Formats: sequence, structure tokens, C-alpha cells
Amino acid sequence: MISRTRFAPSPTGSLHVGGARTALYCWMFARHTGGKFVLRIEDTDRARSTDESTRGILTDIRWLGLDWDEGPGEEDVDGIGPFFQSERLETYNGFFEQLLEKDLAYEAWESRDELSAMRAASPNPREFHYSRRAYTEDEVAAFKADGRAPVLRLDVPRIARTVNDSILGAVTLSENDVDDFVIRKADGFPTYHFAVVIDDHLMKITQVLRGQEHLMNTAKHMAIQTALGIASPSYGHFPLIMNMGGGKMSKRDKAKVARAAARDAAKARGVKDYDWLAEETGLDAGDVALFMKKKQDGVAMAKTIAVALDVELPPIEVMDFRKAGVVPEALLNYLGLLGWNPGGDSEIVPLDEMAKRFELKNVSKSAAKFDIDKLLAFNGEYLRSLPRDVLLAHMQSWFAVRPSHLQDVSADRLNVLLDLFLARARTFVELEQAVAFVFEAPTTYVQKSVTKFLHKGGGHALLSDLSAVMDTATTWDAQGIQAALEGFASENELGLGKIAQPLRLALTGTAASPSIHETVALFSKDEVQARIARCVEATAP
Ligand code: GLU
Repeated sequence: MISRTRFAPSPTGSLHVGGARTALYCWMFARHTGGKFVLRIEDTDRARSTDESTRGILTDIRWLGLDWDEGPGEEDVDGIGPFFQSERLETYNGFFEQLLEKDLAYEAWESRDELSAMRAASPNPREFHYSRRAYTEDEVAAFKADGRAPVLRLDVPRIARTVNDSILGAVTLSENDVDDFVIRKADGFPTYHFAVVIDDHLMKITQVLRGQEHLMNTAKHMAIQTALGIASPSYGHFPLIMNMGGGKMSKRDKAKVARAAARDAAKARGVKDYDWLAEETGLDAGDVALFMKKKQDGVAMAKTIAVALDVELPPIEVMDFRKAGVVPEALLNYLGLLGWNPGGDSEIVPLDEMAKRFELKNVSKSAAKFDIDKLLAFNGEYLRSLPRDVLLAHMQSWFAVRPSHLQDVSADRLNVLLDLFLARARTFVELEQAVAFVFEAPTTYVQKSVTKFLHKGGGHALLSDLSAVMDTATTWDAQGIQAALEGFASENELGLGKIAQPLRLALTGTAASPSIHETVALFSKDEVQARIARCVEATAP
């Protein structure tokens, strides 16, 4: 039997690294087994699902290069669609009918408040279990008159259920883990639990792969399968991804950082409320107050606050990494190893090779720590080893999400800059920072280096001579400049370092750059001389 697996994101936000890793593992599983990779959009939460988020997730998966065999978009061919759950309501209704006919599901009318009160009144509110109750006709009539709509709940037998997890082995979930949960919401939409089971069944999914946060849900999914008399697919649950602090890595980490920055800023202003922040950001003061009280973790709000307070939020979403100038090859390789051991000596394993080696038995059972430095080191390796045309294509897709000086330079110039600066950059953003001086003349000079090389080292006095040396270069290129500089150095019995550092400072504002003749050759002679003149003036002892 051909394997079929699926990635089923809910479009309630953008794709984060955990989701991307799930997509990657599903994709690798499908490619390794010669099966099908299905993409399904789980948009049954009408209040939280947005088209923008769907578009963003599809863009991110495409950017990662994880092609799907069946799913939305142009790829939507010959598959068992539709692939948006919101377009499958009729289908779910048929299954609700089946359960109602067999009396395995029933309508329940309690409002949210009534449910909270029932929970609070139960002996152990944390383990509150809803169970079926009979309503009189009058009660039902009153609910209807009140404008209430019922939810549908599954009548769940109180039994323990064992999942033969493809990664964790046999896991028994206790009878207390599942109560008569809701399968159809009051708005007529299926809950996630119901839709996921029906779709996995109809889409002939053989292997469900998802994060361990869904392990408990599996008991509910099995209960639905039993009620409908349908077979369960195999389930495999991946380890959680933790942040370096040891907490579960989630978008909330962004809210935390934004909140801490807002608190510091409030302290600095000597105020206790956050009305000033609402004013500065244009956000609603009530929303900001809720956010600060941890009642809301909105990523959008965290981002707005971060911009206003000029703080960096931790990268968590795929788009964050793309904006930072991480290439998909590196992100995939890093995520691949985050919870799975590819064997072999090298950690740098390209996607095709990972897919060849991917087996569920080598997926880890315990949590994995997201180490950004390691990811960036991987990225640096990929930047340096990818074929130049692939790298340039990635740069174009980076320019689309982040403006850069490099986007307007000619292909030849870009290649020169890459040859010179790629050696030390771990991301496109670092590359951008390293080349910035080429596009923007320095206005400040690193004071420590000024003292060391220009004042104590005597470089300041040399700078005017060096400006004149530029006129002696017979050709204006790295070789011609090198010959001129070496000539000057030997005539004056100076080490090359003595002249290189002052020149570097004049040209870049810092004492670090590629070899001095290549650095000089990045500019026209006029520009070099103008920068030297400005530096001489600005750093006069
Ligand atoms: N829509 C669910 C999510 O985004 C999918 C869970 C599953 O794979 O069953 O987490």
C-alpha cells in the first residue's frame, strides 16, 4: 500500500519553526517511502482563520521548497480534495447524521458561562468531565427562544486507549483524558477533532505525523473513529521544540520580549500604566493593558510594540528567518536534525539526502532545543557552498521581504562583493551589514581604533600621503593599487599593516575589512580620496 501523509496547518497565524519541522518530516516521510504528501488547510475556526494567514503559510512552504502532491493551489490535481475544510461542510454533516442516528452523539445546550459554573461546582474542576444530560422539551424550547444553538457532543465510553505510536511506541491514554467533547460547534462547523478524523479517513491518510502537543488529542480521534466504525491511521508524534531557556518554543516568546521591553520603558519613564504605549503605537489602550497583563499574546501586537520601542523579537516564524537572510536549505537541514538523527559523520545533510535517510525509528522521543547560533552556523556554510546561481536566486527572494543595498547593484558588482564578504557572513543580513560601508561613507570612526592606529600609531599623519599614493597606481584595480601601496611601504620602510589600518578606518570607519587593496578597489579613486580627506578632518588629534 502506498503511504499517504499530510501536513494540516490551521491558518490562524504564520508558519512557525515547529510547523515547518512537521511539514519537513511529513515531506521526508512521503519522499522516503515513495508515498504522497498531502497539504490540507484546517480553517474550521472561523473567528481565527484568515486568508492572509493561508496565503502566508503557502508562501512559506513554497519558499522552503516542500512540494506537495495533493493540496491547494495549482498543485490541486487528481487529489482527494477539496483541501480547505471550510469547503467540506456537507461531507462532515453526513457523518454527524450517522452518529445521531446511532445515538452516539447528542445535542447539548449549555452556554459557556453555564459550563464554567458546572466546572467550578464539580469536586475537581481540573478534571471536570461533561456527561450527557436529558433536557425537557420545555427547556429546549426556552433555549431556542433565547436564540441559543446546540453543540453536538460525542458520547464517549470511559475506557483507556492505547496509541501504537510510530515514534513513541505504545502510549496508553487514561479513560480520564477524554470526556464527551464537542464535535460540532454551535455555528454548525465541525471542531478540529472531528474534521481532522473525517479528512484523514476520506483522504486515505495512512500515517499521521504531528507534534507531541497533539498526543492527547489522539485519544479523542480514536473515540470518533470507533464511533464511526472507521480504521485509525498510524500516528507518530514528534518531540517538542524548546527555546534556549528551556520553555516550549512558541510565538508567545515574542510577546514575552515585547512585554519586558515595555515594562523597562515604563520604568524608565516612571509610570505604571501603558497609555503612552497605546498612544505611541496607535494601539487600543484596553488591548495594550490586556497584553501587558498576559491576557493576550498577539504576535501582531508584540511586533508593533517592538517597532515602537526598537527591540528585536526572537525569530520564531519561517518569515523571520527568511527576513534575517537564512536560506531554505540551511533552515531545513537544521530543522531536520532538530529531533531526528540522520546518522553519518557530518551534520550538513542536504534535503534530498535527508529524505533518503529519514526513518521514524530515528526520530527522538525527547524534546529538542532550538539553538539559533547553530542554525546560523549552518546557514553560513550553505551561503558559502551553494552554487552561485542558487545563492543569487535566494538573494532575490530575500530582497522581496527586506530592502537591501545589494538589490540595485549590477550582477558583476554583486559577484565581486560576494567573493569578498561571504567568507564571514552567516546570513544575508550580516552580509548587508558587512558591505554597508561600500554604499554609505562612514560618518563616525571606531574610537579605539582611531586612538590605536591614527593617533598612537601615527597613521593620521600618513593619510594625506596615502591619498597621494592613489595617484601613482598605474591601473585602478586591486593589482595596481596593491603595487602602489607596496611601493610606498617599502620606500618608507613601513610594514603594510601600518598603512592598511589607517586606510581601512578612512574607508570603512572600522579596522576590519577584506584585504586592503581589494577594499580600496571597491571605490573610485575620487571616492577613496574624498573618504581619506573626511577622515583626516574628523579624527584630527
Ligand atoms: N490543524 C492542526 C494544527 O495546526 C493539525 C494537527 C494535526 O496534524 O492533526 O495543529
